[in-house]
Amino acid sequence: MTKLPVTRTRREFLKTTTGVGAAVTLVRFTPSLFRGVSESSESPAALASSATVAPSWVDKPMRWAQLTLVEDDPGKFDLAFWLDYFKRTHSDAVCLSGGGCVAYYPTQIPFHHRSAWLGDRDVLGELVSGCRKMNMAVLIRTDPHATYDDVQAAHPDWIAVDAQGKPRRHWASPEMWVTCGLGPYNFEFMTEVKKEIMSRYHADGIFINRWDGSGQCYCAHCQENFKAASGFELPRTDDPQDPARRAYILWRQQRLFNLWQLWDSEVRKINPDSCVIPNTGGGALSSLDMKRIGEMAPMLVADRQARRGVAAPWANGKNGKEYRAALGRKPVIGLFSVGLEEPYRWKDSVQSDAEIRIWVLDGIAIGMRPWFSKFSGTLHDSRWLKCVEDIYDWANKNQHYLLQETPIARVGLVYSQQTAWFYGGNRAAAKVEDHALGWYQALIEARIPFEMVHDGLLNAEHVRQFKTLILPNIAALSDAQCEQLRAFVKNGGGVIATYETSLYNEWGVRRKDFGLSDLFGVKWSGRIESPMQNSYLRLEHEAAPHHPLLKGLEDAPRIVNGVSRLEVEPQAKFEQMPVTLIPSYPDLPMEKVFPRQEKTDIAGMYLQQIASGGRVVYFPWDIDRTFWEVLAVDHFKLLRNAAEWATNETPPIETSGPGFLDVVGWHNRDSITVHLVNMTNPMAMKGPYREFISVGEQKVTVRLPQGVRAKMVRLLVSGKQPQVNRAGSALTVLVPSILDHEVIAIDI
Ligand SMILES: [Zn+2]
Repeated sequence: MTKLPVTRTRREFLKTTTGVGAAVTLVRFTPSLFRGVSESSESPAALASSATVAPSWVDKPMRWAQLTLVEDDPGKFDLAFWLDYFKRTHSDAVCLSGGGCVAYYPTQIPFHHRSAWLGDRDVLGELVSGCRKMNMAVLIRTDPHATYDDVQAAHPDWIAVDAQGKPRRHWASPEMWVTCGLGPYNFEFMTEVKKEIMSRYHADGIFINRWDGSGQCYCAHCQENFKAASGFELPRTDDPQDPARRAYILWRQQRLFNLWQLWDSEVRKINPDSCVIPNTGGGALSSLDMKRIGEMAPMLVADRQARRGVAAPWANGKNGKEYRAALGRKPVIGLFSVGLEEPYRWKDSVQSDAEIRIWVLDGIAIGMRPWFSKFSGTLHDSRWLKCVEDIYDWANKNQHYLLQETPIARVGLVYSQQTAWFYGGNRAAAKVEDHALGWYQALIEARIPFEMVHDGLLNAEHVRQFKTLILPNIAALSDAQCEQLRAFVKNGGGVIATYETSLYNEWGVRRKDFGLSDLFGVKWSGRIESPMQNSYLRLEHEAAPHHPLLKGLEDAPRIVNGVSRLEVEPQAKFEQMPVTLIPSYPDLPMEKVFPRQEKTDIAGMYLQQIASGGRVVYFPWDIDRTFWEVLAVDHFKLLRNAAEWATNETPPIETSGPGFLDVVGWHNRDSITVHLVNMTNPMAMKGPYREFISVGEQKVTVRLPQGVRAKMVRLLVSGKQPQVNRAGSALTVLVPSILDHEVIAIDI
């Protein structure tokens, strides 16, 4: 194990992380943050004790509504309209504005700012009682991230401070101040706010928004607490190899987990069947450890409000799968807004129906329960109402089939927060996430159902359902994680890895060679070629005739290479090399553009068949990242073929037909469902949805698990009985056409 400065601070963390808000019970530092460093000293039981009991209501709501009031709503917004809308949408749970930035009830807490329009009303109370009458579960929202001059004057130490030592005005509302998320404003003041709200309304839970600070804070509390915990001054660089930065990444998380636990325990003292639901989490780029979050949270809200820019329509589904990777069967709620989510923050805007539908339908398909979020009780544009009502109405009618239990997926796509934090740093989007996005796109395009897998959960129990694990440049892996992957292959599993996977340890420190060198069958020569211009891959049809990796590329003599390549030396004996390197050659002047070497014996990928039946594919280049950037169909075919070859089994669900569909299968208690979400994009430029373009006949073959018999097959969207052909345990269902989505429901 590489010796790292941060490890010596660990014991001190345990002693001193209380700081302000000392009443909090100390959560022990999560071993996953120190994987490989001190794992043996932490017992799994210690971790389990930090997980809390789920309130009894948590798994019930299927359709959520959120109304976030703005300050001038009281006395102005139409309360009866909203209660009626909740009813019409069959919403069975709601999130209502409580306090923090603005209190919508007559708070008694000093400095808790009542809405200037509140008068002597209790708007929150009126909403809560209306929703309770409809038997809705009620969460109350607080937002602590901004406050006022009187607070700043009385408690200047509650305000966030910038790197130059100046208290921070709010970037969008300059009359306000940004609060410190890690100090007494949250630990003391907001604790009192939550206690008051819970005492008054006995809510089912408190939803905490923007609770984790707004960028790094340099206030006196942060300086002092960080120094006491780590021995370092606050970091001034964002280089994750700076020991202070590395310690800060971990310390900040620990503060927030302590804060969450403090709030949770305080509200449970008042209502034991309640909890705090933090608005937190995500994929590799999120800053709080998802494994730990998955242990602590009874449910979570995946907050991806809408597609933006050229974002893919599956981005909401991806986010939901990342949450599920950590939460397992706990409910994951898909929070969507109905407005345009662009950097200009048109918070009162309305999206097209098609944009809202594709986003929400894919969220439902991958297993999220929908949660619409509306800011402002006063409607400036009501065009979205019907669209959301229609989706919710359909979801209500088909609720029985949407209690999705076990995803039918044999492929797991791994994501790694530690790779983003310690290897990617401030370039994690390009160095880490773009590789995952390339694979995500390719798997959907290939219509291979798959799940996301958290790299902290590679143990046998969590990966048992998968035949193949894909590691898209998962650069930072501990020895223990490498061992888990070896065990997976030893048990017959397939692994596909790209580029620098396992070339760094869990702290982002480069190894001499891959941690998975033996699995890949190659060792790193120490050189990286990047960027590669005008390089190709030769397809060796003669040396490797009809090779499965070349499926669909039979007529291609060569395809484009990627942009970055590691030089590696084979250690194992590779019988066949279906793809070999054509090195870069000049791309200008045009007269000089001719290959200097037509053929090499350098492989473009390394395929290993292990005796156990496991198969390994290693691409020493950035095929996935390049695919995401360029979307070359030849790269897609290689990725698809690699996934099929490594998985090496008849898939449980196969789909053919025109269009770009997200295919998601579920095995439920008394049904098997296959969601087909039509992502065939109608727009020529960028990715906006104006309308759905219907795609033609889809042939879907579902292979039923042993002992499972199909009773009835129906289509939940068209309402029709499809044509079904049975052959043994395989059902082939013909879906005549799909406009936005279809769900094949097989009663079992
Ligand atoms: Zn601070």
